[in-house]
Amino acid sequence: MKTLFQKIADREIPSKMVYEDDQCFAIEDINPQAPVHILVIPKRVIVRLGEVSAEDSALLGHLLVVAGQVARERGVAASGFRAVINSGADAGETVPHLHVHVVGGRALGWPPG
Ligand code: 5GP
Repeated sequence: MKTLFQKIADREIPSKMVYEDDQCFAIEDINPQAPVHILVIPKRVIVRLGEVSAEDSALLGHLLVVAGQVARERGVAASGFRAVINSGADAGETVPHLHVHVVGGRALGWPPG
């Protein structure tokens, strides 16, 4: 069974894709919470941050590099943005295929809800 994001990567479900390489891709979130809300998603499924292992290190690092690059390209790196990974039920994770939310373009509250 493919995850939702694997189906998006395979173009079985349409999305606004803003970046793609051999390891990951980035799409506009379908329900944006800020003027910039992009998801950076590995092509190889990592279920959630709470289940990663050392062999995921390079891929996880790559996701953060791409998150920073996307933030710069969307013009929020200087003003500030947040990179968020929701892991598990209490964090509000809804898609069990790890993804980094890149959220910016407005002042973000802290602490998170
Ligand atoms: P989570 O709640 O797991 O941290 O984040 C899942 C995110 O995926 C949510 O922000 C949600 O809006 C987004 N999402 C869910 N379904 C789709 C979809 O079909 N297309 C896109 N582009 N985003 C989706």
